[in-house]
Amino acid sequence: MLLKLYVAAVAACAAAAATVVATTTNVPHPAGAAVLVMLGLMLGLTEFLQVRQYRYGGHGASHNLIEGVLAPLIFVASGEVVVLVAALALAVADSARRAAPMKTLFNTAQWGLATAAGALVLNALDPSRTRNGVGIAAVCLAIVTMSLVNYVALHIVLLLAMREQGESPTRSRALSELLGGLIANGAALVTGVALVAAYMWSPWLILLGAAFVIGVDAAGRANASLRADHVRLEGMQKATHALAASIDVSTGLHAFLMETRAGFEVHVAELVLFSERGATVHRCTAAGGAGYAVCIEHHPLAEAVATRLPEATRFAAGDGTTAGAILAGSEHTRVLATPMRSGGTTIGVLFLYDRIGMEGFERGELKIADALAREVVSFLERVTLLQAIDAERNKLADILGNTSDGIFSIESDGTITSWNAGLAAMTGYVAEEVVGTRHFGLLRPRDQHGRDLLFERWADLIDTPGGLPGDVQIVSQSGQTLWLSCSYSRIPETETRREVLVVVARNITQARELERLKDDFVAAVSHELRTPLVPIKGWAQTLLNRGDRLNEDQRRTAVQSILAQAQKLESLVLNILEASRIEAGRTDGDGVADVGGITARIVEDTLASRPDRTLRLRPPSVPANVRGSAVWVERAVSNIVANAIKYSPDDEPVDVVITTEGDDVIVSVTDRGPGIAADAQERIFERFERLEESRKQTGTGLGLYITRRLARAMGGDVTVSSVPGAGSTFLLRLPAAPVAVQPTGRVPEQRIIEERDGNVVRLH
Ligand code: ADP
Repeated sequence: MLLKLYVAAVAACAAAAATVVATTTNVPHPAGAAVLVMLGLMLGLTEFLQVRQYRYGGHGASHNLIEGVLAPLIFVASGEVVVLVAALALAVADSARRAAPMKTLFNTAQWGLATAAGALVLNALDPSRTRNGVGIAAVCLAIVTMSLVNYVALHIVLLLAMREQGESPTRSRALSELLGGLIANGAALVTGVALVAAYMWSPWLILLGAAFVIGVDAAGRANASLRADHVRLEGMQKATHALAASIDVSTGLHAFLMETRAGFEVHVAELVLFSERGATVHRCTAAGGAGYAVCIEHHPLAEAVATRLPEATRFAAGDGTTAGAILAGSEHTRVLATPMRSGGTTIGVLFLYDRIGMEGFERGELKIADALAREVVSFLERVTLLQAIDAERNKLADILGNTSDGIFSIESDGTITSWNAGLAAMTGYVAEEVVGTRHFGLLRPRDQHGRDLLFERWADLIDTPGGLPGDVQIVSQSGQTLWLSCSYSRIPETETRREVLVVVARNITQARELERLKDDFVAAVSHELRTPLVPIKGWAQTLLNRGDRLNEDQRRTAVQSILAQAQKLESLVLNILEASRIEAGRTDGDGVADVGGITARIVEDTLASRPDRTLRLRPPSVPANVRGSAVWVERAVSNIVANAIKYSPDDEPVDVVITTEGDDVIVSVTDRGPGIAADAQERIFERFERLEESRKQTGTGLGLYITRRLARAMGGDVTVSSVPGAGSTFLLRLPAAPVAVQPTGRVPEQRIIEERDGNVVRLH
C-alpha cells in the first residue's frame, strides 16, 4: 500500500517537475525530430538491454547508461520534449521487457523526474549551451543530478519493498549497492559527456552511444552470469551437503530448501512429494525456522506438471501453458519447476518461485536444478532405507529387551559386549555394569559338579566336550544361587568385529528345585506307604496267631493301631489322588456340605485312632453349610486336623472351633506345637514344601497344598497365624451355602460324650 502511494507521489512529482521545466527552459538550438527519434530509440535500447539486479519483489538497481544517453537529450531538447521523449522511450522499453505495470509506471515516473531535474540544473548553469569549461561542468552536474534523483527514488522503493517483506537492510548490501551505483553512474557520466561532445561534432555521432550501450549490456550480462553461476553452485554445494548431513526427512528437507532458496535467490522454494495421502508440501519462504512449513494440501501446479515435465523447466504467469495459467491465478509470477524421478515414476516436484537475484546463467540454472532434484531423490531413498534398517533394529532390540531369557555376548578375550534386560533381571547386574568389562567371573559360574567355569576362556573350552556345559550355576548380585540352561552360538570374526560367543540362558532354578522336591516326594511317599504297613501287618499277624490269648484291652489296642495306620494310609492315598486330580485340572465342587457334621466325624475318627490325644471341638451354634463338595471339605479339614495332631506334642490338646462370620463358615484348628516362622507361613502351602524342623515327622508336603487348592476352588481360603514356640492356628474359611441341608455322615449320637464344658464337647 505504502509502495503504491510512493509510486503515485513520484509520478506526481515527475509531472510537476515536467511542468516547471516546460515553462522555464529554452534551448538555443533545439535538435530536429530525426535526432530526437534517434535519442529516444537509444534510450529505449538502453532500458531494454539493462542487466537488472532484481531484489525485493522485483524492484532493484539496474546497471546501465541511461543518464549518459539522457545527457545529449537534455542538451538538445527543451523541457517538455525531454520529459516526453524520456517517458515514452522508457514506457515502451519496459513494456517490451514485460515489466509489471506498476513497475513500468514507477520507472517512467522516476526517470521523468530525474530528466526534469537534470534539465533544470543544465538550464540554470548553462542556458546558452556554451562549449567551454562551464558547459562541460554544467553537463556533468546535470548527469550527476539525474543519477542522484534516480538513486534516491530507487532506494526509497527498495526500503519500502523490504519493509513489506519484513526484512531489514544490511550494511554490506547497502555498501555493495552504493559501490555498484557509483561505478554505473561514473560510466554513465563519461558516456554522457562523450555523447554531448560527439553531438557537437556531428549529431549523427550520437549513434556511437549504441555501441556503448550494447557493450555495457554484454559486460553486465557476463558479470551477472558469473556471479549467478557462483551463487548457484555454492547454493547447490550447500544444499547437497544439507541432505548428506541429515538422516531425517523433515530436518534434511528444511535445510535443503533453505540453502536452495538462498542459492537460487528466489522468494519461495517448495518441494512437493506425492504419496497415497496426497501431496506433502515442504515450503520455505524465509531463512530460519519460522519460514518453513510442511503441510498436506491440494497442489494444482504440481499435479499439472508432474507427469509432463521431462526436466527442469521455467514457466511465467500467462505464458500460454497450463502451468502459466495456474501461476497467473497465484501470488507468483515465475517458477522454475524440476521433476523428481525414482525408478521411472515422478515422486515429486521442486518449485523455485520468483527470482530476486541477478539475471543471467539461465541455462546453467536448469542443470543445477535437475542435479539438486536427483540429490533429493537419492536422499529420500537413503532415508527410507535407513528407516527400514532402524525399524528392523528396533524390532530386534524389542525382542532382546523383552524376552525373559537372558542373552549376552562375550568376545574371545572375555570382554562382554552385550547384556539384555532378561539377564539383568536374573542376575541383578545391569548392562552398564558389565558391558565392556571382563567381569563375568562376578557371577561365580560353576558346572553341575561344582567346578568353576571360566567363560572368559570360552574359545578354548568350546571345542572340548563338556567344556561349556548346558546347565550352569551362578550366584546373583543378591547372593541367590541360580541354575541357567545355556545354549551357545559362535559368531565368526569379521573385518570390523572379533569372534563372539552368544549365550542364551534360561533360568531353570525353579524347575530344578521342583525336580529335587519331586525326588524327595517319591522317597517320602514310598516311605509313608511302607511305614503304616509294618504295624498293620504285625498286629494282624498277632491277632491271627495269638488273638484268643489276648485280653480285651490288648485286642482293643491292636485294632486301634490297625485303624490308625489304615486311616493314615487312606489319608495319604486320598491326598495323592486329589493332588493329581488338581494338577490335571479336574476339580468338581458342586453341592452343599455340612461343615459341622463333617468336622465332628473327622474329630471322632481321629480320636478313635489316637485315644491318647485330647481334641476339643466347639460345634457351630447354627447349621454351618458351605457350597462345595463334602469330600473336599472333609479333605481340607482332615489335613489341618491331622497336621495339628502330628506336629504338636502328645500331651497338648488341639482345639477345633467352627463359627460363622458374615457369609463365611470358619473352621479354626489350634495346636500348641512348635509354630511356624513368619517367613515360612506362605511357603508351607506350596507343593512338596516341608519345613526343616519338622522333618522328623513323616510327610509328603502335599496336605496344605491340597487344602488351599480345594478351599480356593470353593471360593474360600486357608491361612495360618502362628507364634513360633507357642503353636499355630489354621483358619479354613469357606463361603456359606444359603440353603440348609440335612447333616450328612455319621450323626453325633454315635459319639461318646464324656463331659460338657459350656459349648465345648470333649471326646475320647
Ligand atoms: P506334610 O505334613 O505331609 O509334610 P503339609 O503340606 O500338610 O505336608 O505341611 C507342610 C509343612 O508345613 C509340614 O511339613 C510342616 O513343616 C508344616 N506344618 C504344617 N502344619 C503344621 C503345624 N500345625 N505346626 C507346625 N508345622 C506345620
